[in-house]
Amino acid sequence: MSNPQENSNLELNDGAKIAVLGGGPAGSFFSIFALKLAKQIGKNIDLTIYENRSFSAEGPSSCNMCAGVISESLVQMLAIEGICLKPPIVQRAIDTYCFQTIDGDVFLNSPSKQKGIATVYRGGGPVSQATTDADKGPESKRKSFDDFLLDCAEKEGAKIENVRIENIKLKNGRPVLFSKKGELPEVDLVVGACGINTKTIKAFEELGTGYTSPSTIKAYQSEIHIGEENVSALFGNAVFVYLINQPGVKFAAITPKGSYVTISMLGKDVTKQTVMDFLNHPIVKNKFPDSWNITESFCRCIPKINVGAARRPFADRIVMIGDTCSARLYKDGIGSAYLTAKAAANTAILYGIGKEDFLKRYYPTCKRIDRDNFFGKIMFAFTGIINHTPILREALLNTSRYEQKNPELGYRCSTILWDMFTGNEQYTDIFLRAFNLKLFVRILVNIFNAIFIRFMKLWR
Ligand SMILES: Cc1cc2nc3c(=O)[nH]c(=O)nc-3n(C[C@H](O)[C@H](O)[C@H](O)COP(=O)(O)OP(=O)(O)OC[C@H]3O[C@@H](n4cnc5c(N)ncnc54)[C@H](O)[C@@H]3O)c2cc1C
Repeated sequence: MSNPQENSNLELNDGAKIAVLGGGPAGSFFSIFALKLAKQIGKNIDLTIYENRSFSAEGPSSCNMCAGVISESLVQMLAIEGICLKPPIVQRAIDTYCFQTIDGDVFLNSPSKQKGIATVYRGGGPVSQATTDADKGPESKRKSFDDFLLDCAEKEGAKIENVRIENIKLKNGRPVLFSKKGELPEVDLVVGACGINTKTIKAFEELGTGYTSPSTIKAYQSEIHIGEENVSALFGNAVFVYLINQPGVKFAAITPKGSYVTISMLGKDVTKQTVMDFLNHPIVKNKFPDSWNITESFCRCIPKINVGAARRPFADRIVMIGDTCSARLYKDGIGSAYLTAKAAANTAILYGIGKEDFLKRYYPTCKRIDRDNFFGKIMFAFTGIINHTPILREALLNTSRYEQKNPELGYRCSTILWDMFTGNEQYTDIFLRAFNLKLFVRILVNIFNAIFIRFMKLWR
């Protein structure tokens, strides 16, 4: 399979040992694909995943802290791989996104008319006050997405060690892992899938291979309990995106789950008070049950989110995947974990484990994500301008509403918003679709309308 003239002479031989550091989505995907591929070509590999969390307990310490929205494209790709997402892993199937602004809202339905987006918990779910399964009700049956993926990896033959890796060093050019008990057995390849919410990432930087971790910003996640009936009646199968100009907030969304809603907020110095202010905003408060009082205590976490690319995410016998290398800007991080894990597994099993192999066969996948994020940054900058400009905000809202009422004219503006906020399509495609004369005219007409209405109000 590998051509020695093109690749390094570092290969995984029969019986080779792989250590995967981290059992989040990237680590599990890598393990599933590497083991499947090795089986297909008749190669025997010995793969161990080191994961210090147990994803079945409640609360942030057992959770990989994210909104848990699995994009439609990833749900489909996983189904093709034989990884089918169903309840009790799926908490709710999403078919609608609602864009809520201070000038009103617009509901966008899935262009495929399917409930193709899944919401999941990344751990055992929020900390609940209930102590028995009967008190927890349907929540007692929930299963973590990350636990499910680890099970899939184990079924393919991965060994799972509930161990925290304390350090990584190079010894005679080979990476060596250390746990609290000391040095672990020698391996042929180390896969860095530890995410960005751990100090372990520094240990990779200190190896001196040129690896620099990606830039990050902090996000604020809160799980609010309102009961399953209220979630169904008030939020249904829709994710609510709020463009309400709250100071210091770049992005706020509410994702419905079983009997909880997840509030995800991005911005500068978002704190618990910012979340309380958000919940107290009349537009947001309106969405919650009349009798509901904003609780002071709720399950919350402040994870980092990847907003930049890592430098040199590979070396001889080391490859960094998932959040430790490249992730799609603000959206579908689990989708990028899938892409990078698959590309790394293909390279390691089919071509080699030297830095030239990863540079040639794996790095292009990371670069594609990074290039796409460049267009994502432009699109989100536009969204920021629109959010802060009442006339533009109103024009965009009215353009989308008009399209929803007149589907025969095509959903140009609506699909751009849908694909951007669901993470369903590449930013480059969305960016190119935005350069459309008909769309431009439609928005321009609505801008003139908004100016005209304001002018008439002043004149009266
Ligand atoms: C607020 C927020 C909301 C998000 N919402 C979404 C969303 O809705 N949809 C989406 O697709 N993406 C979302 N993301 C992004 C998504 O969470 C990440 O892109 C994804 O989890 C990356 O997967 P990973 O496996 O690379 O890393 P992680 O999920 O971080 O997994 C890393 C694993 O490594 C383990 N680990 C770390 N250090 C060690 C060690 N020393 N020893 C042993 N184990 C270790 C950790 O316990 C963890 O299980 C969101 C991110 C944030 C911050």
